[in-house]
Amino acid sequence: MACPKCAYSILRIPVRILAKLLFVSCLAWIVLTNALLCYLHDGSSPSLSTIPVELTNKDIYFLIAHPDDEVMFFGPTILELSLPKYNNSMNLLCLSTGNGAGLGSTRELELLKSTQILFSLYGSQRPQPVVKIVNDEARFMDTMDAEWDAQLVAEELGLFVKTSDALVITFDEGGVSGHPNHVSLFEGAKVYVSQTPASLYTLSSASSVWEKYSFTLITNWKLFKRLVASRPHSVLAQAFNRRFSPIEVDTLLGGAPVEIYATMNMFLAAVGAMAWGHYSQMVWFRYGWMLLSRYLTFNELRLVQ
Ligand SMILES: [Zn+2]
Repeated sequence: MACPKCAYSILRIPVRILAKLLFVSCLAWIVLTNALLCYLHDGSSPSLSTIPVELTNKDIYFLIAHPDDEVMFFGPTILELSLPKYNNSMNLLCLSTGNGAGLGSTRELELLKSTQILFSLYGSQRPQPVVKIVNDEARFMDTMDAEWDAQLVAEELGLFVKTSDALVITFDEGGVSGHPNHVSLFEGAKVYVSQTPASLYTLSSASSVWEKYSFTLITNWKLFKRLVASRPHSVLAQAFNRRFSPIEVDTLLGGAPVEIYATMNMFLAAVGAMAWGHYSQMVWFRYGWMLLSRYLTFNELRLVQ
């Protein structure tokens, strides 16, 4: 039988390898994001993403279930679409106070602090963001054990939305983590857009736990392909294309689904919104989330309707 000291030594090896891998991947992410900022844009626009015209000049309504969803899952999307060049107005409806642990009143205030950072990082000519938090546990209880009524979700969304051609962004049918409250938003949003001219985009759930907690690993591969596609005549692109299938620029730049990448500044803003805004949520595993979550470096949006 192995002694505890030996077992500890064995366990330390993968932890060390993982730590080195994360460190190298993070360095690669910094290099790739900055290289792309230079190649794709003129330096005045801090964006790595290609946003379709359908996501510009819009009244955008984010629909979330709990305070902190906006930064933990939608951070890159909110920060990207609030860039002044897209001329969007940003609004957020949260259907609970996140009172599952009895901290509802604290978490309401924390959501307002978080959105102060996320929605106003770049400033905008459009109307100030509107944030509404619904405090009604009879209809929208913060719990892992119950789905919310889709019709009630649609009605609440209808009360919040002020324009006929609104654009709603919420979770997809996977709800990122399968959380029934998140999934309820998808069902309710579908009901809402089926009754109105509004359009609906959903945040794609990661296909596996490895992807969900890959931080920069998978994002780096996508960024590298964007870099190659943005410089098709470069030595790097030609070498890559000789070894692999050429990357179609059109499928990366402007094709559906919409891929939204965080820059370093966006990532740090999201971390600040979480750590400063949602202070009561900063227990030990949240630091692990910020260190490993892919949702802080990349979002994929799919058009539902
Ligand atoms: Zn949530």
